[in-house]
Amino acid sequence: MAETEPPTTDSATMDKIVSLCRRRGFVFPSSEIYGGLGSTYDYGHYGVLLKNNIKARWLEAMTQERDDIVALDSAVILHPKVWEASGHVSGFTDPLVDCRVCKKRFRADRLEDERCERKPSLQPGQGPECDLTEARQFNLMFETTVGAVQEAGSKAYLRPETAQGIFINFKNVLQVARRKPPFGIAQVGKSFRNEITPGNFLFRVREFELMEMEFFVPPAEAEQWHRTWIDERLRWYLRYGLREGRLRVRAHTGEELSHYSSATSDIEYLYPIGWSELEGVANRGDFDLRQHTTHSTTTLEYVGSDGERYVPHVIEPAVSVERMFLAFVIDGYDEEVVGDRQRTVLRLHPQLAPVKAAILPLVAKDEGMVSRARSLYDDLRDGFMVEYDDGGAIGRRYRRQDEIGTPFAFTIDEQTLADDTITVRDRDSLAQERIGVAQAPAYLGEAVRRHWTSPKFK
Ligand code: ATP
Repeated sequence: MAETEPPTTDSATMDKIVSLCRRRGFVFPSSEIYGGLGSTYDYGHYGVLLKNNIKARWLEAMTQERDDIVALDSAVILHPKVWEASGHVSGFTDPLVDCRVCKKRFRADRLEDERCERKPSLQPGQGPECDLTEARQFNLMFETTVGAVQEAGSKAYLRPETAQGIFINFKNVLQVARRKPPFGIAQVGKSFRNEITPGNFLFRVREFELMEMEFFVPPAEAEQWHRTWIDERLRWYLRYGLREGRLRVRAHTGEELSHYSSATSDIEYLYPIGWSELEGVANRGDFDLRQHTTHSTTTLEYVGSDGERYVPHVIEPAVSVERMFLAFVIDGYDEEVVGDRQRTVLRLHPQLAPVKAAILPLVAKDEGMVSRARSLYDDLRDGFMVEYDDGGAIGRRYRRQDEIGTPFAFTIDEQTLADDTITVRDRDSLAQERIGVAQAPAYLGEAVRRHWTSPKFK
């Protein structure tokens, strides 16, 4: 069946994204059989594959494509003193207000984003019955107890960021990796924040995976490296296909700055909820290394072979897999009418797509086609995440792959049996071409590496 290229429109709403993610098994509401646990999610097969691809591309860009960054995987539960030194015990707070009437809690600094429980057209505090308490500071760290007995001294925290695990390993890495500034340490790992008002699907959750890189530089170079990393990170998003018109950089005002930061710029994405922080690129100065030097028994500084010594400054790009996942799915989501049918398609960069190609025998009952398709599938799965599907009409199988963002489909038909060629269908353009079946692995390898930009409008 020939399909023509239709115009595209941006139709991604948060409801449609949530629905697609659930329908196709990317993301499930967690603990659903017990009524759910608000704003907590579990990831299904395609969600796991997409997340793994996001993390792999990030780590590659940090540690494989450069030679000045090394990887680290530190513990989730660190010595409680780490969080005293870092300022999180005293300063990692959000201002909280309660409504005495509806009993709901809100972030006092985000009231404009919230709705009054009784009168949803108004923000909390503006309704005739609203009765808000004074704002008080609420610490976002989850507490836990280490050891079998709940006794004094065993209180610990689930990490709210991975960065501190990097700072406390600064000396280890400096010695073992034989680095000198400028150099970086990158880490991907679960982080936990007891957010007052989680919500907007994956945008604000209490358990998420952070991808953080701490780049240690001579103090005089900090500003320059801060600008460099903002540019580097923007380039990474464009390379993996986010539309340029949906990205912008916003510098924090003085009041917004975190307790550790001397300058931060957010890379914002135009989510359906409006422009919102996707990634933060902070200049943390020497705050963290100095704090840990004061609170621990170890001096964290760089000492050169010529006796030069200084406390490096730190530039930190930090982003969660969840906010990226959401941005890529929203950016890729598209609906279009092809012939007389509507299709939903996830236009993900091939390097991020959960499945790279579908292998489809045109007629599921044809033994010749099925066995050729199975053997192609076995060849391809050696090097790629591919999927074999012989269930249902070919059109429906294409639609299914479109919705999970599979960039290529290889179809085995009558002609394959005669001349060893197969059809390649391109997810975005719907163009079809014939290639030799033996060429398929090389074709796919080249096709997923090719430069890709979104066919959606900017
Ligand atoms: P916000 O102002 O949105 O609460 P933040 O400024 O506190 O975020 P940072 O401490 O800068 O966030 O965290 C770095 C990155 O971690 C953010 O850019 C975002 O990608 C991610 N992130 C932070 N909090 C959450 C969360 N609750 N859920 C998902 N991702 C998060």
